[in-house]
This record gives sequence, C-alpha cells and structure tokens, in this order.
Amino acid sequence: MVFRRDRTDRTRPRPRHRGSHRTGPAGAPGDLDRALAAAGTGFETWRSTPIAERTAVLHAAAGLLAERADRVGRVMTREQGKPLAEAAGEARRVAGSLRWHAYDARRAYGRVIPSADDTVLSVRREPVGPVAAFVPWNFPAGSPMRKISAALAAGCSIVIKASEETPGTACEIVRCFAEAGVPAGALNLVFGEPAEVSAHLIASPAVRLVAFTGSIPVGKLLAARAGAEMKPTLMELGGHAPVIVCADADPVDAARRAARAKFANAGQVCTSPSRFLVHESLIGEFTAEFARAADAVVVGNGLDEGVTMGPMANERRVKAMEELVADAVSRGAAVLRGGARLDRPGYFFAPTVLTDVPPDARVMREEPFGPIAPIVAFTDLDDALATANSLPYGLAAYGFTKSAATAERLVRGFEAGILSINHCGGSVHEAPSGGFKESGHGREGGPEGLEGYLVTKRVSHLLRD
Ligand code: NAD
Repeated sequence: MVFRRDRTDRTRPRPRHRGSHRTGPAGAPGDLDRALAAAGTGFETWRSTPIAERTAVLHAAAGLLAERADRVGRVMTREQGKPLAEAAGEARRVAGSLRWHAYDARRAYGRVIPSADDTVLSVRREPVGPVAAFVPWNFPAGSPMRKISAALAAGCSIVIKASEETPGTACEIVRCFAEAGVPAGALNLVFGEPAEVSAHLIASPAVRLVAFTGSIPVGKLLAARAGAEMKPTLMELGGHAPVIVCADADPVDAARRAARAKFANAGQVCTSPSRFLVHESLIGEFTAEFARAADAVVVGNGLDEGVTMGPMANERRVKAMEELVADAVSRGAAVLRGGARLDRPGYFFAPTVLTDVPPDARVMREEPFGPIAPIVAFTDLDDALATANSLPYGLAAYGFTKSAATAERLVRGFEAGILSINHCGGSVHEAPSGGFKESGHGREGGPEGLEGYLVTKRVSHLLRD
C-alpha cells in the first residue's frame, strides 16, 4: 500500500480560513509511479485472493470503521465543517455501504447460455483492473468509500486521490483497510496537485478505469483525457435538483422535508434540492413554512452541541453564494431569509430563501452547491416539468403530490437519475445513484455499482474428449 504520510495535526482545530485547495502532504510524480506499480501487483494479488477471504477483509474494515465512527466524524467535522452528528452518521453509513458491497461481491455472477451448436457458451464477469479515482471534499468519507468499496468488491485495485481539503478522513478510512488486511498495492491513497495527479494517473497504461466525483467542467476534462486513452469512465457530477410541489400536495410537510434536505451539509450536496417550483395555490403556505424551517436552523461550529448547519467548506463557496444572491437580487428577486455571510470568523453563510426569482437568474440555472433556496410559482404541471428539465443537469429530482397518477407523470417526466416522491430521499447502498445528461454516467450503489468495475468475457468452449 502506498500511503502518503499524513502530517496534519488533528489535535488542534484546523484553520477555517484557507485560500488554497491544499492542506496536507502532496505526492510527486515519483510517488504516483510507485502507487501505479503497487496497483499493478496489488491487482494480481487481490483478484486471485479467494472471494471468501476478500470479503472477510472488507467486512473487517467495515467493522473497524463502524467502531471508529465517532472519531472519524470528529476529524471530518474539523476539516470540512459539517455538524458532528452528520459526520459520524456518514462514517457509520459508509461502513454499512462497504458491508453491502462485500455481500454483493459474492453475486458477480456470469451465466451459461444454451448454445446453437456443441459448444459451451458462457459469460464471465471479471474485475476491470487497476482503477484511478478522484473524489471531492463534500462527503469526505462517503465519496472515497463509494469508489473504494465497489472497486475492491469487484476485485480491482485502486489508486485514489481524495480531496486535499479533507485528507484526514480519507487517511482514517484507508487505515481501516490496512489494519483489516488488504494486501499491499490493492488500495493506494495519493494527494497532490489535482490536475497533475489526474493527468499522470489517467495517462498510465496501468490504469484501466477512471472514476470521478466532482464538478461537471472537471468531469468533462477527465472524461476527455480518458477517452483519448480509450479508457472507460464513471462520472458522478453536479446537479441542480428541481422540487415540484403539485396543487394537491401538503405544502407544510413538503416545505419541512425540502428545507431539511436543502440545509443538510450546508447545501453542499450534488443531489441537494435547489430549485423549488410550487403550485401557485400553495406558494404562500409553502414559502412561510420554508422560512420558518430556515429560521430554525442553528448555524455554528459543527463540534458544538445543537448545531444543525456548519460553515461552508471553503471561501470559494461563500463567494459563490454572495455572487448568486447579488445576481438574483439585481434581476428582481427578494431575499426572504439570509442572503449574506454571517458576521463571525469562518465560512458561515446564512440559510437563504429567495422569492420572485426570475428564470434568467444564475441561481435558477447554475448549481448553487450551498444553502440557497429559490422558490417560484407555477400554474401548469407540464410547464413546471419543462422548467425542471430545461437545464443540462439530470441528477436528482423531487415531486410532492397525493395522486398516484400525478406521481407517475412526474416519474416519467423528470429527466434525472435519482427521483424521490413525497420526501427527499438520501442515497442508499442497495440502489443505484447517478445522473442523466451532463450530470454524468455510470451508477454508484446497488448491483449497478459493481457493474462499472467489471468487464465481460464471452467464452465459447468446443468440448474435446
Ligand atoms: P472544483 O471543480 O475545483 O473541484 C471539485 C473536485 O474536483 C475537488 O475535489 C478537486 O480537488 C477536484 N479536481 C479539480 N480539478 C481536478 C483535476 N484536474 N483532476 C482531478 N481532480 C480535480 O470545484 P470546487 O470549488 O472544489 O467545488 C465547487 C463545485 O464542484 C460545486 O459547485 C459543485 O458543482 C462541484 N462539486 C460536485 C460534487 C459532487 O458530489 N458531484 C462534489 C464537490 C464539488
């Protein structure tokens, strides 16, 4: 295992005024070459390890992570800002996700096909090979674990570049695998200058699959590089999730659920509800309840008891929020709640509710990735669906209605890969998540999650005595 030494001092609170993306150690090209060489030999070792042993190691790593969830959560809160309960919950959830993948690894079945002649025709599923993976900072445990668990469950080795802004959580996760007995080279964690690391890893002949979670522009760049090498990609990119609240919905329940999802992780979630299209007959009640829910959010240090929303992860996000609000206001939107950074040290931005937001406001077209909720009214459901689908994004979408027929109309109508009706469901291990359109391709979670890390061999065997 190539494991860059983590020199961050987690005994003291980390500064929340960082300008650069980098806070930890950075690997040089020589380190990346060592990681690639290790992933090559690690792949051979890991793929030929009997499945019972492989899955036992994964279950052991999951056990260690579950045991350490509170400690890992504390590291996460200090480096990313989310409230401790959310962070520890994330660590526990990813241990569950690893267990699920370990079980699913035992179901990577091939098949035998009735043959037209006297050959035995079969299909085998094999690990694709060493994977290069790149993950962001918003789910410091969830994002790396989705890639690591699927890759290792499939029998692949992996070189993963976690975010330089949240290196501590990634180190804690990789330590669990090391202590659980993952063989040398199967799992390699690197840090460095993101563009240099990705260019180096993707160009290497050792790498057979490129997996990325992050923004659409970076996803396109990495997919183009991988395409030049004819390597498959899994792309989990941004979204701008519409919420349609139909005329027959309960506006209070919808507002409460939507607000809870909106302000989770300070809105820095790719599936965060971010455009609220509410039937004109309910807009008053919905907006009033949403504003009440925004008032109830307790913003503060994620380590403090009772805090429900931490700071944003970095100064870039605070600036982005200020710009989106200023743009919306300049085009006629009203700020019902928040709208500004909080007057205290750190990257705190107020839970924000905007009304009368015109369709050409940037916040209606660009992923906010922050705690801003623009609420607009609609009259006709077809128009609302057209608005929902009008952007290049297609990740998550939410609908609220009591009618089964209307729900089905929404399910068929939304151009998105992750749909929730009458609630704002989070991701689950046993079902796939992923996008349409520019939100990416490939799926994480469910049997489809393993699929991306496997290749198919057709075997036609003419039997001989
Ligand atoms: P960014 O595009 O600079 O970085 C996003 C992630 O990609 C970071 O982890 C970064 O280290 C990595 N990255 C950037 N350039 C890279 C490269 N050339 N090769 C490999 N990795 C690279 O954006 P940011 O300021 O960190 O985040 C802002 C935007 O990113 C948000 O608005 C959101 O759209 C998107 N984002 C999406 C997700 C997601 O889960 N889909 C997560 C985080 C950020």
